[in-house]
This record gives sequence, C-alpha cells and structure tokens, in this order.
Amino acid sequence: MVHRVDVTNPAEGAEEAAVVSVIDELVRNATEHAARRDRVRTPRPARRVAVVACMDARLDLFAILGLKPGDAHLIRNAGGVATDDVIRSLTISQRKLGTREIVLVHHTDCGMLTFTEDELRAELLAETGIKPSWAAETFTDLELDVRSSMKRIRASPFVPYREHVRGFVYDVEECVLRETFA
Ligand code: ZN
Repeated sequence: MVHRVDVTNPAEGAEEAAVVSVIDELVRNATEHAARRDRVRTPRPARRVAVVACMDARLDLFAILGLKPGDAHLIRNAGGVATDDVIRSLTISQRKLGTREIVLVHHTDCGMLTFTEDELRAELLAETGIKPSWAAETFTDLELDVRSSMKRIRASPFVPYREHVRGFVYDVEECVLRETFA
C-alpha cells in the first residue's frame, strides 16, 4: 500500500509531505514490478527504431506509438531537439544496437515555447554568475524545429542509416500525431 499525500490540500498532511517523497513511491512500484519479472533479454530494440522526443510528462510514447518494452530506443530531452548528445545516442543506437529508423516527436503546448534562449541565459547568469556552456535550444515554431532536427540528423556523418527519418508534432489536446514533411 502506497502512502499518498493530498497535494490539493497542503494544510492537511503538510507534515507528512515533508518526509514522503515521490521517489519513495517509485521505489515501491519498482519492488512490485520486480515481482512480476517482466523482462526483455536483449539490449537490441526488436522494432529496430529510435524515437527522439520531448521529455514532456504527457507524452506516453509507448501508448501513442503502440510500443512495448524492448521495442525501441526512447531518447528524450527538453523539446526533443537533436542536440549533440542526441546524435551521440543515435550513433550508438544504430552502430552498436541495430536500429535503422528514426522518429522525432515534438508536441503542441511545449514548455520550450514559453521562454526564450536570452531570458534563460540572463536568468542563470544573474542568479549564479555563470553562463551555461550549452544552448537551451528554445524554439517558436514547432514544425520548423522538427525540420531542423531532422536536418541535423540527416547531416550527421556518425549516423549511418538516414533514409528513414520522419518527424511529427503530437497534438496534446486532440491526441493526434501529425507528420511534418520536409
Ligand atoms: Zn515539450
């Protein structure tokens, strides 16, 4: 039995909220999961596909794409942007673990549309005295950014299989996946 704190009523149970972390709940879930012994024995994705997607909590990629554990590599970051680190993962995914196709998923109402690169840099510099060495890679046009990410992947000499790279925008209101064509 997992102990839950009613977050809609912080006054009630505020004391417990301080000591019960979400992670404790997740660890208990993992214990229950272990008992079921649902395991996949190979690290090579069965569907030979890698999905690059935003980290947004509403994007249930398994449900949306009809995937199950063992089927695909899921590579996620803020925005689902094809950063150097995504290229790193795709390189390993294809060269060492056998994937051949790449799906990109951005989505409507993305947090990356709500602030600018300059705003974040100014905020970080003001609060910490340090400018980040990385770019936040914010964007204002979803489809344009999907195309930009597809182009980066197709331009990478490290990613050998670039024939099947397709990009999509998932509409979080309509629950519809729409393809972005180059
Ligand atoms: Zn997002």
